[in-house]
Amino acid sequence: MNAYCPYCNSHQKHRLKAASKGRPRTLAAGNRAHERSLKGHGSKRAGEKTVRKQGKRQKIVMTCQNCKKKQERVINGRTTKKIEFQA
Ligand SMILES: [Zn+2]
Repeated sequence: MNAYCPYCNSHQKHRLKAASKGRPRTLAAGNRAHERSLKGHGSKRAGEKTVRKQGKRQKIVMTCQNCKKKQERVINGRTTKKIEFQA
């Protein structure tokens, strides 16, 4: 895929790969805050159901063929299908 590379400051050929989500860190500040909020105290939070979003955001990692640097890009909002790449 031909895309802009901020490192080369020009359009370059990029190799595409679907980005995978790493294992969530349980002690990360944001995660702890989220757990606390689910536990209750303060507004109607306890027992609240989690929101189920339709589909997932699809992220791709583009690797520049020129400088070998990587960038992420979110494509087409939310999709229920898995993304495929054309050769
Ligand atoms: Zn580049």
